[in-house]
Parts: sequence; structure tokens; C-alpha cells
Amino acid sequence: MNIENEKYVLRCVECGKVVKDECTDRCPLGHNSLLRTEYRAEQLTVRNLPGVFKYIDFLPVEGHLPVDSGPITYKSEGLSKELGLKNLYITFNGYWPERHANIKSCSFKELEVLPTVVRVKEKCKDTLVVASAGNTSRAFAQISSVTQSPVVTVVPECCLERMWTTQETDNVCLISVRGDYTDAIRFGEKVSSLKGFLGEGGAKNVARRDGMGTVLLDGAVFMKRLPDYYFQGVGSGTGAIACWEAAMRIIRDGRFGNVLPKFCLSQNLPFVPMYSAWKDGRREIAADIDMINAEASIREMRADVLSNRNPPYSVAGGVYDMLCDAGGMIECVSNREADDAGRLFVSAEEIDIDPAASVSVASLVKAVENQQVGSTDRILLNVTGGGYERVREEHDLHRVKPLLGVGAGAGVEEVRDEVYRWIGGRRG
Ligand SMILES: [Zn+2]
Repeated sequence: MNIENEKYVLRCVECGKVVKDECTDRCPLGHNSLLRTEYRAEQLTVRNLPGVFKYIDFLPVEGHLPVDSGPITYKSEGLSKELGLKNLYITFNGYWPERHANIKSCSFKELEVLPTVVRVKEKCKDTLVVASAGNTSRAFAQISSVTQSPVVTVVPECCLERMWTTQETDNVCLISVRGDYTDAIRFGEKVSSLKGFLGEGGAKNVARRDGMGTVLLDGAVFMKRLPDYYFQGVGSGTGAIACWEAAMRIIRDGRFGNVLPKFCLSQNLPFVPMYSAWKDGRREIAADIDMINAEASIREMRADVLSNRNPPYSVAGGVYDMLCDAGGMIECVSNREADDAGRLFVSAEEIDIDPAASVSVASLVKAVENQQVGSTDRILLNVTGGGYERVREEHDLHRVKPLLGVGAGAGVEEVRDEVYRWIGGRRG
């Protein structure tokens, strides 16, 4: 294989095998491992491109989209004062025009959508299928409304209210599933198996991870060094894995220090499988210990977007490996603690944030109380979503209506003809 001229290659974390990217997300030798991008560029050059694409050197794409969505880092004054922290930096991922934060879907999921869409266009041309509890699907729909590239999204019926865009679009085939997040994911897999369609790959998708890794890059560029601690509320932990990988790249760069940040992750009680397994020192999540009464627990969570039942925790290169390599912890946060932290953030920083981001703020509050972080430590807080109120003030929100609806456990033949008809009208 000639890889001399490639911008990057993919390496299996488990066996080290190097492959050329053809929308590849699995080791050809079949390992249960993440593939990781290795870029030819050793140093990061911040390019004069919009949004996440200013970090294109560390994105698995050649081209970019004219979309100004990216992470925005600033040094906190309000929350920093409340918590007695002298070096608290916030990477805000959402809509906040006063700070030039322009993610109109208000979720950091948009960071992963942008390179994912470009990579698929460059490498394989299939139509993407995404299943989510709403935020990822909304981010795909928002980008689709701007770029006119079609996407199939599968969302549980209860989460349809999260499906809106700031521009009207008829390029989204929204399928609603009468069931929960897991049912939607299962049906999404069936749709992806149709010829001409491609599942977006979840945590295994390197474009998705490297897109989210721009949070760490943006933080390090703003701080001019790596943070000591990184805080994030997690469901799958993919965003944190992405930032760990980005931190390794930044160490290779040489200008930002050589110590990985400690990763302080948080989950929302009562559904906390990774917290439970990590606390017991286990690499495997055991359903009968860590996910008892999963359905009922998930219904009780304030931040239900953090309710992933199959997170990339044990997989080679996943959350467990990250915590062992970089150091860190997983904290658990009650609804009440998250609500209090959310209110504290709004009054201190003057922007609304979503429940998942509130979970992360709550874990920071706890870490300060427990003296797990010191007053001069350099802390990067990933605010994974916010500005919902601001976007409503500035834009008309258009509801994305489901084109099709199915029951939990439905077969793909129930939608196959309609989906082909829909895409047929768009591929021309
Ligand atoms: Zn392998």
C-alpha cells in the first residue's frame, strides 16, 4: 500500500495495522478496537477557514464546507469567581453571537457532523444514516439544510420535539420510532444496510471523533498550552476520547507542553454504567451490575442524551484506556445537582446551557468542594450545548417533520420502498 502521499492514515489501536481511509471504521483484521487517525502534519497550523475547518490539518478531509460552526474558548470570569478558580477556561459549543459562537443547532454534535459529511462525500458518496436521541440528528439536519446534502435520521418518537433547523429543508428523511434510543439505533442499523446508505459509525467514525477533538485543540490554542484538567458530561464518552486523541497530537506538536490533561467525566444518576464499572476497577460494563432497571433509570435522568447503553468504554482506545493512560475519574451527578449547577452557570456566565452541560458543571463544583482540583489549576470545561434561548430570539425555528413512522423492532422492508423513492428524487 502506498501511503506516502496521504494526508493521514488510520491505525488500529489494538494491533497497530495501518490502513488507507476508505470510510473505514474497523480494523481489517477484525479487532474490537477503535482506529485512530495519524496525520502527516506534526504541528498544528490554524487555517483561515470557517468554524471547525480552521483545524483542518487534524481533520480527515481535504475540503471544507462554508459553515461557521466551531468551538469557542474563553477565560471564565463569572463562574471562575463563584468557584474560586483562577484559571478556568470554557469551551462553549452552541449559539452565542456576542462571543461569535455560531452553532445554530446548539450542540457540540455539529462539530462531528461537519467533517463526517465532507469525508463521506470525498470517500464513498453513500447517503448517511444517523440514529440519535435528537441532538446528533438535529445537528445533521441543520448542516443538511445549509449544504443541501440529503441525510436519513432515525429518532425515538419521544424526542421528535428536538428536531428543528434554522432554515427550512426537505433534505432530511426523518423516521420516527415508537421506542427508546436503543430501538432507534437498532432501526438505524437496518436502514444503513440498504444499498447506497451508510451508518455514520458512532464512536468508530474517525471524522466524528476528530471533529469533536477540535474542542481540545481550540482550548489549547487559546490557553497556549494543554489544560491540567478536562471536564465533560458523558453518555458514550466519545467526545472525551476525541479530546484525549487531540491532546496526544498536540503533545507531538511540541509547543503546548508534554503532559496529558486528566479527564474528569461525569454521568447523570440514576443511569451511570461507566461510573459504576470504573469505580469497581472493571474494564467491562456488566449489565446486571451497572445497568439495573435501565429503562426506568433512563426515564428519570435530566440529561437523557447521556443514556448510552453501549458506550465505547472497554474497546481498545476507548474510555477505560483513556483514563488509565491520561489519568482522571468518572463522577456521578444527581438531577438536583445538575439543576443547581445549570442555574449557577446561567447567572455567572449569562448564557443558558443544556442539561448534559449542567452535569459537567456540577461535577466541577464537586471537584472544587472535594479539593480534587486546586485554585490555580488550568481547567478546560467543555460546555457541550447551549444558547437555545438565544437562537430562538434570533432565528425562526422550523420543525423537521417525520416522513415515516415505525414501531420498535420493525423490519426495514416497512420503509425500504419509501426511502428509495425519497433518495431517488434527490440523487437526480
Ligand atoms: Zn487490528
